[in-house]
Amino acid sequence: MSKQSNSAHSNVLIIGGGPTGLATALMLAKRGWTKITVLEKSSSAEYHEPDKSFNYLIDGRGQKLTDFLGLSESLANLGVPNTAFYITRIQPNGKRKTSKLSIVNANRKTAYWIPRRVFVQLLYEEIERHWKDYITVLFDTRCTEINRVSTQENCQMLEVVVQQSQHTVEKFEPFFLIGCDGIQSTVRKTLKQWDGTDRFEPKRFPSPSSGLKYKVLSLRPQFPLNHHQDPAVSTMAYAIRSAGRDRTRFLTLGLLPIKDDAASRPVNIINQPDHQIWSLKTGEQVLQFLEQDFPQLPIRQILSIDEADRFAKSEGGVFPSPQFCSGLHCLLKQRASETMFAGIVLLGDAIHCFPPDIGQGVNAALEDVVVLNDALCQAQNDLTQALPQYEELRALDVVAVVRLAQTAAPYQYNQSRWQARLWFIQFFLRLGISRLLPVVSPPAFFLLQNQQLSYREIWDQEQRGSQVFRVLSIALISGLLVTALINF
Ligand SMILES: Cc1cc2nc3c(=O)[nH]c(=O)nc-3n(C[C@H](O)[C@H](O)[C@H](O)COP(=O)(O)OP(=O)(O)OC[C@H]3O[C@@H](n4cnc5c(N)ncnc54)[C@H](O)[C@@H]3O)c2cc1C
Repeated sequence: MSKQSNSAHSNVLIIGGGPTGLATALMLAKRGWTKITVLEKSSSAEYHEPDKSFNYLIDGRGQKLTDFLGLSESLANLGVPNTAFYITRIQPNGKRKTSKLSIVNANRKTAYWIPRRVFVQLLYEEIERHWKDYITVLFDTRCTEINRVSTQENCQMLEVVVQQSQHTVEKFEPFFLIGCDGIQSTVRKTLKQWDGTDRFEPKRFPSPSSGLKYKVLSLRPQFPLNHHQDPAVSTMAYAIRSAGRDRTRFLTLGLLPIKDDAASRPVNIINQPDHQIWSLKTGEQVLQFLEQDFPQLPIRQILSIDEADRFAKSEGGVFPSPQFCSGLHCLLKQRASETMFAGIVLLGDAIHCFPPDIGQGVNAALEDVVVLNDALCQAQNDLTQALPQYEELRALDVVAVVRLAQTAAPYQYNQSRWQARLWFIQFFLRLGISRLLPVVSPPAFFLLQNQQLSYREIWDQEQRGSQVFRVLSIALISGLLVTALINF
């Protein structure tokens, strides 16, 4: 890991080899940039973190980037299209009902369900196949520290300290540093320390789904759905309901579609922190709990004791509060004589993060990469212009997507039955009214499917639509009250 020269359009260091980091590396290589290094703390692109084995739905917004990279066809081959989204609900008595999810807008670009691991691998294989001379991905390598090293005449160089496999410590001196290192971004935290203002401080908003706990359970491929051994279909979504009705006992096993029918089937378990499932300490306790509450499933055939044990011991995760930071870049003067600056930029979960209610985490991240590409293009790769331009183009959308995540579909996880019912009533009323009166826009959840609308435009429409909806609701309720009083 040698110090590299600061020639134009080279010597780029990307922290984080998740979807955003690998996509950014590919975008830069395609623009002609060289000497791009990606640091990823996981051991490989195939590295499988069981509690991160959730599915992405890559929609038209995310596909702006896969189109640019020429990867949309591979995405379609590896994913399950949402145009064929069927969900089967299975009750504790074994009754099943399959329905086609009609809220998907058939006029929009087809979106694809794809496991995170498969999508990351798709990007990594593209690097290995076509861009090996331009991009180096270093696994098992963690960025531990970022320093500004002062040189002559008030100039500064970037020094990035990295640790490989617990042992060796090395240093990089990039002239372009890119933070794609997720919600706990080391790059963002460093910028916060340097800046001294609140530009890089995440601003957090409340949401009914933040604070929920989640773990992922892996069922064996094509597991039997009942005691007659009917196999599950990998491309079908399932919602399997438990017999326990108590709030701290009721559970839905949620399974999203995957293409590969030989792959194990991840089940998202999402619930309040006081749910009884989180208190189970051993695999045997997990098996007994599920056997008791899911009499419709042959639990011991579909779940191994090892996996049940792993589940019991896993820490799991907690849905974050919707959050964003307003600062997306920073420039450091590198040489006094020339107008040479080192640039630092943030993308993906490092700048916006929220619970998965609206399925926009990865799509927003891939759109960040598209916007950075646009800014580099307009500024002809000059970082001093491109990075402020990226921040200007993207900052308002970043705020808007976080506000949408806060409000667009927060009650999907059996949090509070009454609040959820009220929310769904207003959701369907609003949908109905929007069909009768075009002045009221449909709920934002539908608008999000339209990749031609920016998050900002969707948020504006959502606010205007909500205002009109409120006025109409008040007028309607007042009318009903007056009529009732007159008739009384
Ligand atoms: C339970 C759950 C369900 C979700 N479901 C969906 C969904 O259905 N749809 C959707 O669109 N989004 C979903 N998301 C959000 C989605 O995962 C993120 O928005 C998306 O992964 C962002 O990608 P990223 O590359 O910016 O960050 P990440 O995916 O977090 O990747 C960051 C990478 O950086 C690496 N890294 C971090 N720090 C360092 C360091 N110091 N040195 C080296 N490497 C480092 C990490 O190992 C990781 O690989 C979900 C999130 C959660 C938690």
